Amino acid sequence: MWQLRNRVSTSEHLEARLNLSEDEREGIALTAGKLATAVTPHYFSLIDKDDPECPIRKQVVPRGEEAYVSPEEMADPCGEDSHMPVPGLVHRYPDRVLFLVTDRCAAYCRYCTRSRVVSGVGDQRLELQWEMAFKYLEKTPTVRDVLLSGGDALLLSDKQLDKLLTRLRSIPHIEFVRIGSRIPIFLPQRITPELCAMLKKHHPLFLSIHTNHPKELTLEVREGLERLADAGIPMGNQSVLLKGVNDSVEVQKALCHKLLMCRVKPYYLYQCDLIKGSSHLRTSIAKGLEIMEGLRGHTSGYAVPQYVIDAPGGGGKIPINPEYIVQRDEKKVVLRNYEGKEYVYPEPQEMLAGAMQE
Ligand SMILES: *Cc1c(COP(=O)(O)O)cnc(C)c1O
Repeated sequence: MWQLRNRVSTSEHLEARLNLSEDEREGIALTAGKLATAVTPHYFSLIDKDDPECPIRKQVVPRGEEAYVSPEEMADPCGEDSHMPVPGLVHRYPDRVLFLVTDRCAAYCRYCTRSRVVSGVGDQRLELQWEMAFKYLEKTPTVRDVLLSGGDALLLSDKQLDKLLTRLRSIPHIEFVRIGSRIPIFLPQRITPELCAMLKKHHPLFLSIHTNHPKELTLEVREGLERLADAGIPMGNQSVLLKGVNDSVEVQKALCHKLLMCRVKPYYLYQCDLIKGSSHLRTSIAKGLEIMEGLRGHTSGYAVPQYVIDAPGGGGKIPINPEYIVQRDEKKVVLRNYEGKEYVYPEPQEMLAGAMQE
């Protein structure tokens, strides 16, 4: 509660604590009505106060460039609003739903894909109709997986969250529940033994955290993640590829290694969505592919996330991989390994015989 009450959120706060650049001053003035600025003291303490290029700072302190909207950018880049059978419930895939349970976060990422509805200052409001969502889930037996997000679901109190999870768990066809949260990073103090004991009652429960840079995995964060892991909660990380923050093999490798030390599996590396005002943070897809090439084979398979693009307009997540197939015909596949050496895998003989009969 202290961390939330003492968030750095005004231009005076920022001015007093950081050596602001002109570009940042401009950003703070121009983006006030777009997405609120708020940073927990814990996360703020990781910022280099003299370096505007600090990878932590770039994620949470607005810049003038953020007010520039390029033609391909959208308010709802993943087409969520058009896939909501009831307010707050995005049903895009056959067997799983994204349930937006709050419109607030502990701190706000400048590249937020849901800036249209979170933080309370944007153009839209997130309609919170939990009862309608529960009714929809009860009458939709194809849904076996519910992903709680927002905003940040861990911003709810233990009691609210317990009620929500209990209600979901009362629906027999819901097998798997997961929470998407950046609170373990922004507000590790929230990961109390009480929270973990409550979550543990609702297994199988997974948690997807969101961290982008190895500096974010502080001692406090690591202790919080250990408490969650000890409560039997499997964890994955969803990282966003951001220019000047984590767009190099070295930073991504360090991040993924540190995540494994914190008992978190790197899950997805996202190409940054085409959210309004994000062009200064987006990288080329070639950069993402280069990073994936630099990880696969060079380090533990467990440390390698899947690189994905959440298709603009609502196509869902599409995996993007470096090409390891050099040549392919009915007889064989020619592959290259992480060192660039080529290998041949012959196709099964029955397939050849079958193909010949035709
Ligand atoms: C990301 C997402 C999911 C979950 O996708 P997984 O690939 O199963 O992690 C579900 N619904 C929506 C709308 C999503 O954006």
